[in-house]
Amino acid sequence: MGKKQFKAESKRLLDLMINSIYTNKEIFLREIISNASDAIDKLWYLSLTDDSVGLNREDYRIRIYIDKENRTVTVSDNGIGMTLAEAESNLGVIAKSGSNKFKGEMDAAQAEDISIIGQFGVGFYSAFMVSDKVTVISKKFGEEKAVKWESKGVDGYTVEETDKYRSGTDVIMHIKEDTEEEIFGSYLEVWKLKALVKKYSDYVRWPIVMDITHTEKQPTEETDKDGNPVMQNVTVTAPETVNSMIPIWQRSKADVSDEDCAAWYKETNRDQNDPAVTLRVNAEGNISYKALLFVPAKDIDNGLSGATAHKGLKLYCNGVLIMDECDKLLHDYFEFVRGVVDSPDLSLNISREILQHNRQLKVIGQNLEKKIKGELEKLMKNDRPKYEEFWKNYGIHIKCGVCDEYGRYTDFLKDLLIYSTGEESMVSLKEYVDNMPESQQAIYFCSADTIKHAMALPQCEDVRNRGYEILYLTSPIDETVLMQLRNYEGKAFLNIVTDDLGFKTEEEKKEAIEKSESSKEIFEFMRDSIADPNLKIVLFSTKLVSSACCLTSAPGGMTLEMEKYFRRSAPSEEMRSLRADRVLEINAEHQAFKAIKSAFDGGDRDRAAELSKILYVQAELLAGCEVEDIAGYTELVTKLF
Ligand code: ADP
Repeated sequence: MGKKQFKAESKRLLDLMINSIYTNKEIFLREIISNASDAIDKLWYLSLTDDSVGLNREDYRIRIYIDKENRTVTVSDNGIGMTLAEAESNLGVIAKSGSNKFKGEMDAAQAEDISIIGQFGVGFYSAFMVSDKVTVISKKFGEEKAVKWESKGVDGYTVEETDKYRSGTDVIMHIKEDTEEEIFGSYLEVWKLKALVKKYSDYVRWPIVMDITHTEKQPTEETDKDGNPVMQNVTVTAPETVNSMIPIWQRSKADVSDEDCAAWYKETNRDQNDPAVTLRVNAEGNISYKALLFVPAKDIDNGLSGATAHKGLKLYCNGVLIMDECDKLLHDYFEFVRGVVDSPDLSLNISREILQHNRQLKVIGQNLEKKIKGELEKLMKNDRPKYEEFWKNYGIHIKCGVCDEYGRYTDFLKDLLIYSTGEESMVSLKEYVDNMPESQQAIYFCSADTIKHAMALPQCEDVRNRGYEILYLTSPIDETVLMQLRNYEGKAFLNIVTDDLGFKTEEEKKEAIEKSESSKEIFEFMRDSIADPNLKIVLFSTKLVSSACCLTSAPGGMTLEMEKYFRRSAPSEEMRSLRADRVLEINAEHQAFKAIKSAFDGGDRDRAAELSKILYVQAELLAGCEVEDIAGYTELVTKLF
């Protein structure tokens, strides 16, 4: 019988497995058991429509046998089995998407560091981490003949027909000899394998059975002086189911700790981090359901996690999976939530279309959303750093949710929003309003690329001097969110750069206008010297305290924020170079303006023009705008020395 070669891409993966320096080799058992469980699932599903299967639900099991003498561990299932052709095609190439993805990552990294193996479902090949030979004997349900597949690793495999009594698969792993670094023999110990089943495969739905030996007290023929039989210790070996089988979400809170849930989450989502939030729900009533939900600490779709981008919860009916990614339960603003929902009230044969209109599902979804929100609010209150971390990862989903569907979810989501009021401090809108001094009428905000830039805006000073906090916005969607909210507890949102904050009386405003009008000549001169076609107006500001000037956008047109946004992310060069019309606001009391005025009045027009240009660029810089002529500006500044 000739040896056949593995497909090229499988070889590399196999090679990695065989020469693995990976410390977590023990996951091989999980992988082999998971295949066995899938195979039983398949036969069980078939039995629902095919009487000839002849097995009841309780007849299915996964058996683990240890043969110390021959150094083998066998995982045997009475599942669907494989034909010869299937064994060849399934075990000869990388069938599994997880393995493929893993290989992709390895190639990309060009790395021999395989510490990431555990994050991937590496499947059948993982047996080669602990075995120097693997034999698979399998009989497909309904077939006469069985198949024997065997491989010692990269040099290829053999397949031949054989006989087997019943359908199912035996995976016989010939455990490697011990080396100085590694005691492979430990995988031949019952206690070790039992512990591995508990650790990785406890919720597999089918019984995993092992022969367990323990000592029992049994009566002997002899009797003591009172006539009672004398007891003796006898070792008994009997098959025992070593996994609990009940899915974690079906078990009571008293039986399963939060740590157990976190461990299960990490295992099933292939995430190395504990979840930020764990939520367990046991709802009884009109619609009963159990749910176990998680908010991942980091966005696991983007990491090296091997998880494919997916959203939605797993939907079960009495422990049987109906849908792997049910995206109809939660709205998109909570799409980062992972976990399972299990309800006996759902039908097993539910289809995608029916799900969409399913009333029970809607009710479950609504209830879960309330609970998730409650849990997040709790986190915000009790563990602010953790909530801020959550916000960094998922805040954008909540913000988009506020703006979605014309604000349908605004009210529901508004109390999850948090904003920076400094480089280190964040507040919710409720906290902001609760902190407001009595004199404060509105909620103030401004936007910039970074919090530092926002805080440096000259318009902030007046607001801060009055003892009012400012929300510093840094994401392009932030202003849209506030516009959608309109107000919070009746307090309007005011942009400190563009809005009238109502700090000045009508009288004071009139005075400022008159003052600007009387300085028309010098302002005209400044505008001409600055010579920026987008600078439309120069006037005295009513918003400045100690700063010399600030820049705002001319009313009615494109704003400076839009200009900056386009510059960063507009698709065409033309859009990226669009500029807002500008207003240069001057602090009449500032030394800078006084210097320009004295040069202008004294007839030194050149100096007045140069100082005006410098002032203008400073206003542009403070507003976060791009300075067009940096060389010209630095030359002007160096002339001052
Ligand atoms: P995956 O299980 O992710 O598909 P594996 O490499 O673990 O990847 O297995 C490859 C394929 O081999 C499986 O998809 C399945 O078709 C088949 N297979 C493995 N183990 C068994 C088994 N015990 N019974 C039936 N088929 C199996």
